[in-house]
Amino acid sequence: MDVDVRSRLAALPSVHAVLGHPALQGAPHAVAVEAARASIAAARTRLLLGENIDVDAVVEDARTRVAEACRPRLRRVINATGVVLHTNLGRAPLAAEVVAAVHDVARGYANVEMHLDSGQRGGRLDGVAGPMRQATGAEAAIAVNNNAAAVLLALTALGRGREVIVSRGELVEIGGSFRVPDVISAGGARLVEVGTTNRTRAEDFARAITDDTAVLLRVHPSNFRQVGFVHRPDRKALVKVAAEHGVTLVEDLGSGLIGAPPVDGMGLDDERVELALADGVDLVCFSGDKLLGGPQAGIIAGRSALVQRLRKHPLYRALRLDKLGLAALEATLRMVAEGRAGDIPTHRMLAAGLDSIRAAAVDLADRIPGAKVVRDHGVTGGGALPGRGLPTWVVALPDARCDRLLQQMRTGEPAIVARVADDTVRLDPRTLMPGEAAEVAAGVKAARARCEAMG
Ligand SMILES: *Cc1c(COP(=O)(O)O)cnc(C)c1O
Repeated sequence: MDVDVRSRLAALPSVHAVLGHPALQGAPHAVAVEAARASIAAARTRLLLGENIDVDAVVEDARTRVAEACRPRLRRVINATGVVLHTNLGRAPLAAEVVAAVHDVARGYANVEMHLDSGQRGGRLDGVAGPMRQATGAEAAIAVNNNAAAVLLALTALGRGREVIVSRGELVEIGGSFRVPDVISAGGARLVEVGTTNRTRAEDFARAITDDTAVLLRVHPSNFRQVGFVHRPDRKALVKVAAEHGVTLVEDLGSGLIGAPPVDGMGLDDERVELALADGVDLVCFSGDKLLGGPQAGIIAGRSALVQRLRKHPLYRALRLDKLGLAALEATLRMVAEGRAGDIPTHRMLAAGLDSIRAAAVDLADRIPGAKVVRDHGVTGGGALPGRGLPTWVVALPDARCDRLLQQMRTGEPAIVARVADDTVRLDPRTLMPGEAAEVAAGVKAARARCEAMG
């Protein structure tokens, strides 16, 4: 090592010196130490590559690292993707009155398991069961952590050590490693496959039933669509088969829409909870944060005796909702039961007409230099309406390096997530919350400036 490099390495500040700098005062000690070490190591590497390093730059780098480490990992994101139920972005944003209900029970105590009139223990699920009965006609309902948990609970409580029959066309993977065959085996039941990949009939189920059969399982094929020479067993025919053989019909509805679809003719009948229950399905399972537009939850609704069996199973205790989830779910279900589903954010986004989206796109484009308004196709997300796009208008920003601009938008404050098509960054106003257009315009401006500075 030549003398010059050696003397420059010697000039690198010590951890102690960096920690003592006024810029790092007030930072949590462990965080500051880790940041100082990382900054000094990075400076040493750059120095050995022949760069000049000064002490101020090392301190500034450490200060940036401390600031980043102290920011919450989980933060608000502006969703400009147009994907209404974006699983990576936490699916459904909650309605203001739902947030207020959560706030109310979060900041103090709440009667999670106490009947206030008698002072007796119980009633944990009353806020879910009441509005569910009102909105869907379900005899009873319970809620757990998510729909994966709901299906697992139903199959474990009803099918453990026995057979669960599923169509080969519905042995699906939903993503996030929810695979129907794995859930059945995790619940200790034996999977019996019937039919073929593309065609299965109710008679296939009837023929496969034995004394050991506990459940016929119907699964909504979320996230994909079969077209062509296909046949899915008719729901009413399955109800008949189950009743004739004295077995339970469970349906995993996936998105689970309660009430009318956000837009007429949207083709969501397959996911409607009250239609499945009216057809005679014994138990339905669905998510709280997909088409319902509420918090993460899994809801199981249907025959009272079956719901009671699930509630008494030890697994329910392990999968149950906390008071925040219960408050959010009750408030969301009440909005639906009281005919105010249209005020739920995801509902409003899905129902937004092309004219209003175009007006929002024009308004946003007016705030961003070089922006154009173009036609595009968005998606619902959450597995609803697979294979069918949602026609929309977007703001398109031409950029020589779209991925870099996207990255700078994501790492800005607040973070903005968008997508890229045809060498343009695309911003879909459908999924913006009220008042976010100005933040998007400012965020794009700042991100462009950072890209510019990088050269
Ligand atoms: C989304 C989905 C699930 C998983 O629901 P989570 O609430 O994410 O656990 C299970 N089954 C189907 C059919 C789905 O669409």
